[in-house]
Amino acid sequence: MTRLGAHAAVVGGSIAGLMAARVLSEFFEQVTIFERDQLEDRPVIHKSTPQGNHVHALLYGGEQIISEFFPGFGAELEQLGAIRWRAGRDAVWYRADGKSYSLTGSIREPRDLGFGGHVMSRGLLEYLLRKRTLELANVRLEQGAIVEALAHRDGSVTGLRVGPDGATREVPADLVIDAGGRGSRAPRWLGEMGFAPPEVTTIEVDFAYTSTRFRKPADAPQVEPIILFGAPPPNVRGGGLFEIENGVWHVSLAGRFGDYPPTDPDGFMEFARSLPSPALYELIRDAERIADISQHRFPSSILRHYERMPRFPARFLLVGDAICSFNPVYGQGMTSAGLQARVLQTLLRERAERSAALEDLASAYFARAADVIATPWTLAANFDFAYPQTRGERPPGMEQGARYFLALDALQVQDPEVQRLVVEVFQLMRPLSALWQPPLSNRVLALMQGNDA
Ligand SMILES: Cc1cc2nc3c(=O)[nH]c(=O)nc-3n(C[C@H](O)[C@H](O)[C@H](O)COP(=O)(O)OP(=O)(O)OC[C@H]3O[C@@H](n4cnc5c(N)ncnc54)[C@H](O)[C@@H]3O)c2cc1C
Repeated sequence: MTRLGAHAAVVGGSIAGLMAARVLSEFFEQVTIFERDQLEDRPVIHKSTPQGNHVHALLYGGEQIISEFFPGFGAELEQLGAIRWRAGRDAVWYRADGKSYSLTGSIREPRDLGFGGHVMSRGLLEYLLRKRTLELANVRLEQGAIVEALAHRDGSVTGLRVGPDGATREVPADLVIDAGGRGSRAPRWLGEMGFAPPEVTTIEVDFAYTSTRFRKPADAPQVEPIILFGAPPPNVRGGGLFEIENGVWHVSLAGRFGDYPPTDPDGFMEFARSLPSPALYELIRDAERIADISQHRFPSSILRHYERMPRFPARFLLVGDAICSFNPVYGQGMTSAGLQARVLQTLLRERAERSAALEDLASAYFARAADVIATPWTLAANFDFAYPQTRGERPPGMEQGARYFLALDALQVQDPEVQRLVVEVFQLMRPLSALWQPPLSNRVLALMQGNDA
C-alpha cells in the first residue's frame, strides 16, 4: 500500500481525534495531534471535556471499533479496573412497575445475548485510548497547542496555524482533520476561506445531567453494573447508576425542559427519591459521596450537514462531535465518532491501494459519514420527539416508525434472536435498516396488520 502523504494533522486530542490519528497513522509518515489542553498522564478528564463528569457509556459498537484499531483493548481496560457487562443480562431498567431488561420495560427475564463490553469512567477510556495511540511510532501529541486557523491555497488546505496567541506558527500538512468537538471552529475557518457555512439540523431537547460519584458500600447488594431509571414521556426525570473502576458508583440524574436535577446534596437526593422507581435512591441513600455534584446543560442536538455543501476545500475533513453532537442520554457520541473513523479508514485504504489523490476525498467521506450518523441520529430523535415540548426537524416517517417499533417490541419478548438484533442496532453494531429487512420485516408487518384488524 502506498503512503498518502508525509504529514497529517488532527485538531483535538479527545476521543474522536485519537481514533482519527490511529487511522491516519496507517497512511501518513507522521501524524500530529494538536490539543489545546494540558493532559495529565493518568485516567482523569481535562478542562475541555467536562462531560466526563457524567456517566459515559461506551456502546458495544464503539468498543468493537476501538478493539479493531487496538487489539486487546478490552482486556487492557479490564486490567485497569473497567467492569465487564453482558448484553441482555447486565443492563437493567427500573420503572414504576419494576425491573426489566429492555428499554421499553417489556422483557422481564435476563437473557445473555452472547456479547458485551465494559463500563468505566470517561477519564479511563480516554487515557487508555491516548496511551495506545501514542504508542504508535509515527503519532505525536502537542499539548497546549491551540489551532487558530487553517493554512490554505487555491481552495485546498495546506496546513494549520497553531498558537497560543502571539506565537502562531504554520505547520504544513497533507491532510487536516478537525476533531475539535461541538465547539469546532471549522464553520468560521471555512468562512475565512470563502466557503458558506454548512446547513445545520437542530433538535432542542433542553436536557440536563447532574452527577456525582459514591463509594460502593462494602455490604452493597449484588447489582448489575448498568442500572437505568425512568418512565416513558411525559415523565421527564430519569437517571443512571454505572459501576466503574475502583469500587465506585457513578450516578447521573437527568431532567428535561427546566426540570433539572439540583446540584445541592439534599436536592440531588430528593430528585433521586422522586424517580418512578425507588431503586436508585435506595442504593445511594446511605452510600458515601466522594465527588462534587456537577451539572451539564445540553440545550440541543446538532447535526452539521457538511455532506450537503456544494463546494468544500480539498484535504480537510471533520470527525466526531464537530459534525454531530447527540443528546447524551443515549450514549451514542463516542461510538458515532468511531463509526466515522472507520469510514475514514475504508476510504483511505481504497485510495492507498489505487495510489489515488486526496483531492476528492471530502465528498465521499462526508456522504458516508452522514450514512453512519443517520442511525444514531434517527434513534435519538424518535425518542426525543416523544416529548411534545421537543422542538426541531422530525425525521421522516416517525409515526409509522413508532407503530413498527411497538410490534417489534412484542416480537422481541417472544424471540431472543429478534431481541439480539434490536440490541445490536441500539448498540450501533448494525444500521437501523437491519430492523426493516425481510424476513423480520414480514413478521413485524404481519403483527401490525393483526393489531389493526
Ligand atoms: C454530558 C455528556 C454526557 C455524554 N455521555 C456520553 C455517553 O454516555 N456515551 C457516549 O458515547 N458519548 C457521550 N457523550 C458524548 C461524548 O462526550 C463525545 O461524543 C465524545 O467526547 C467525542 O467527542 P470529540 O472527541 O468529537 O470532542 P470532545 O470530546 O469535545 O473533544 C474535543 C477536543 O478538541 C480540543 N480542541 C477543540 N478546539 C481545539 C483547537 N482549536 N485547537 C486544539 N484543540 C482543540 C478540545 O480541547 C478537546 O480535547 C456525552 C456528552 C455530554 C455532553
